[in-house]
Amino acid sequence: MKTDILIIGSGPAGLSFARSLADSALKVVVVEKMGEDAIADPAPDGRDIALTHRSRQILTDLGALKHIADEDISPIKEAKVLDGDSPYVLHFDYRRVCDDALGYLISNHLIRKALYQEVKAASNVEMVFDSSVKSISPAVDSACVTLSNGTEITSRLVVAADSRFSESRRMMGVSASMQDFGRTIVVCQMQHDEPHQGVAYECFRYGNTLAALPLRGNTSSIVVTVANEQVDGLLAMSDQQFGDYARDQLEGRFGNMSPVGKRFHYPLVAVLANQFYARRFALIGDACVGMHPVTAHGFNLGLLGQDTLASLIKEALHKDRDIAPDDLLRTYQSRHRIASMPLYLGTNAIVKLYTNDLPVPKILRKAMLRFGNNFSPVKAAITRHLTETHKLT
Ligand SMILES: Cc1cc2nc3c(=O)[nH]c(=O)nc-3n(C[C@H](O)[C@H](O)[C@H](O)COP(=O)(O)OP(=O)(O)OC[C@H]3O[C@@H](n4cnc5c(N)ncnc54)[C@H](O)[C@@H]3O)c2cc1C
Repeated sequence: MKTDILIIGSGPAGLSFARSLADSALKVVVVEKMGEDAIADPAPDGRDIALTHRSRQILTDLGALKHIADEDISPIKEAKVLDGDSPYVLHFDYRRVCDDALGYLISNHLIRKALYQEVKAASNVEMVFDSSVKSISPAVDSACVTLSNGTEITSRLVVAADSRFSESRRMMGVSASMQDFGRTIVVCQMQHDEPHQGVAYECFRYGNTLAALPLRGNTSSIVVTVANEQVDGLLAMSDQQFGDYARDQLEGRFGNMSPVGKRFHYPLVAVLANQFYARRFALIGDACVGMHPVTAHGFNLGLLGQDTLASLIKEALHKDRDIAPDDLLRTYQSRHRIASMPLYLGTNAIVKLYTNDLPVPKILRKAMLRFGNNFSPVKAAITRHLTETHKLT
């Protein structure tokens, strides 16, 4: 089989990239190791994704948002950050940057389903399910990919979107820096007595953190981060105990709380590929930059990266040039590095500081919140950066 672009992985990054190339003159093949049912109608996975204004715009342009009901898109009006047992709050308000919200929450499975619907309708994209990649052999003009079912596909560009633990990245000998935080995230939705008023909370307690993200009605997505050795204890709690745990961490702000549905857990490992490309090969999504979720930017960066790469490819196509020479891939790398490095490094630094309960970091933690609150330009810059309102076209 011959194709122009072969994408490995049909997660949200792989699908959005395929959709960005739909209706172009390029032939695109997406290879996914899971079955079609799991991609066409993905089960909830506990992730409620906070999207920036720019990401919302990209998803709208890709046609995905029209498949998602308005009530499944929850605005974040304000965000409050708490530290330790102090009542002091660092406060962000949408009114500083725009007239509706700081960002928007949509469940990950709904984003995946919406993108699949769009890709499925594209006549130039073929999807191959229940298959993974066994080997990749790059040459000057193309790369030859062998699938687990024995099929060989020659493609002008191979794009890895196969998660932060990307097998194809390893196959291509692209190294990555990994930071294992030794912590695990436990997520689940909870109903509560009191309304959240569209406020998101990030509580950096001592020994653990808890985030509450406002969803529809009196429901929030609760994200608890604990040291790995405490996870089994959290998962073993009854619903009542887990609800009480969240209520206490939030100091009763939402009244009584009770879990809705399953708890999911994810190891906290941040990953940064040391190169974003190799010959006839590029990395997007978590395979390229796998963020710690505390700043809610993993998929936002994934969307941006695929958009950058797709734009460069479409521009080359328009000029009748090769779609994946080294210099084009290098341009992708430098643009996406500039966009992602400050967030990646900044996020890891925040995590390091706010999970350190020694006396000096404790003082620094408090000082940082006050600095953020009291220096208006700093606060405005952080708000703009995290919401990406200034990057709307
Ligand atoms: C708890 C939590 C909360 C989060 N919250 C936010 C948030 O608020 N905002 C935000 O922007 N981001 C958030 N993220 C990050 C976001 O979920 C990820 O950045 C995003 O899912 C990455 O998408 P992806 O397509 O790159 O990878 P994945 O979602 O990991 O998808 C990879 C796909 O590749 C397939 N695959 C894997 N290996 C192979 C192979 N060898 N061959 C073929 N297919 C393969 C997999 O089956 C899968 O379909 C959060 C993450 C977590 C864990």
